[in-house]
Amino acid sequence: MAEYKRPASEEDFNTNFQPLKPVMSDTEAFYESARCLFCYDAPCVKSCPTGIDIPLFIRQINSGSAEFAAKTIYDSNVFGYACGKVCPTEVLCEGACVYNHSDVQPIEIGRLQTYATNKVIRSGKQLYSLKKPTGKKVAVIGAGPAGISCACELSKKGFEVDIFEAGERPSGLTVHGVAPYKISNEEVLSEMAYLQKQYKFNVHYKTLISTKYDFERLEKEYDAIFLGIGLGETSSLSIPGENLSNVFGAVEFVNDIRMLHHEVKVPRKIIVLGGGNTAMDAAGECARLGAEEVILCYRRSKAEMGAYTFEFELVKSVGARVVFNVSPVEIMGSTTVTGVKFVRTKTENHRVTLIPDSEYLETCDWVIKATGQNKKTELMSLIGIQMTEKGTIKVDESFMTSKAKYFAAGDAVSGGEEVVNAVANGKKSALSIIKLLAS
Ligand code: SF4
Repeated sequence: MAEYKRPASEEDFNTNFQPLKPVMSDTEAFYESARCLFCYDAPCVKSCPTGIDIPLFIRQINSGSAEFAAKTIYDSNVFGYACGKVCPTEVLCEGACVYNHSDVQPIEIGRLQTYATNKVIRSGKQLYSLKKPTGKKVAVIGAGPAGISCACELSKKGFEVDIFEAGERPSGLTVHGVAPYKISNEEVLSEMAYLQKQYKFNVHYKTLISTKYDFERLEKEYDAIFLGIGLGETSSLSIPGENLSNVFGAVEFVNDIRMLHHEVKVPRKIIVLGGGNTAMDAAGECARLGAEEVILCYRRSKAEMGAYTFEFELVKSVGARVVFNVSPVEIMGSTTVTGVKFVRTKTENHRVTLIPDSEYLETCDWVIKATGQNKKTELMSLIGIQMTEKGTIKVDESFMTSKAKYFAAGDAVSGGEEVVNAVANGKKSALSIIKLLAS
């Protein structure tokens, strides 16, 4: 394992969780932007789900107009700062940069994006003037990336927007579910405060919309309702021992770290179950919190892992051990966890089959399950919204649900995608709402 001292203070925590993509200095931004070839029909733009005009904003940075660069970015993506930090740029814009064909390091688009947007967030520069009020009102449920993106576009076009958020803070999983070495709470909240000042939407925190009556009230008061409700808690594995203490869901664990920092104390040996990006985040965070041994166990092969290669390499770089083709059959212990009984697996025709008589026991002090999140099917059936077979909200190409007035986007529709996809689809939903209410 990589040697991480157990963080005993905020200072120790910050040392172990140093930002992966720190904000560039003016000099760094100038030199990096000068490398861009400003390609015609640039592949980096095509690979950005929000279609930011990347060569244009890089040129604006290079000519000393960071504020114009920020406007170019925010015109397409209201989470310009956060996406510069948390987007998997390695497989999106930077992965598509033409420099990759010449074995030259691609342009650091994400960091340039963060650089430009950071300037206007710090200065508070007003980039937009809002259109005159249309007299129409839209309720947005959930202050995550999809909801905020939808709210900004609607507010810009003169709609009155009320966001209803069950939690105490905005920004959904960008605040609660992303590893702190990708983006800090302060960074997320600064961008949110900037957006709220720019677009002037209302946010009602600690306001859970969960009953039929709540929805009926919104239907009477608002011309349209946008559902950006995300996903629920970590799903159950349905194996014995899952309810023992010291068995945690990865989403809840990552959230605790973001809120409590060094106050989260990890034990000596931890098993993380899963093969997606959340599993990688959880394993990397355990190592940075000073666990001596972290074992990531995935029931399929390396080639079938959902996590991006760079996320996998990152978790390996902090010393986590990765075991493929093993499936947990029981979490052992009487009150607290003592280990996990696994069975070895193989994949045949995309199906996981268990290898008979291959069980073995791996001891541990904690188990973290990164095995997906529950869908909010009950809440949706309450109001008669159709779901897909996968338990996600069914929408058409305009992001309209099966119920009149209701639109939806984000993880509740996709089942779990990147922040940038939620931002892109939240904006598209807003454009459909505008079209509907204008007709
Ligand atoms: Fe610049 Fe690379 Fe995009 Fe070309 S592909 S415009 S070099 S960032």
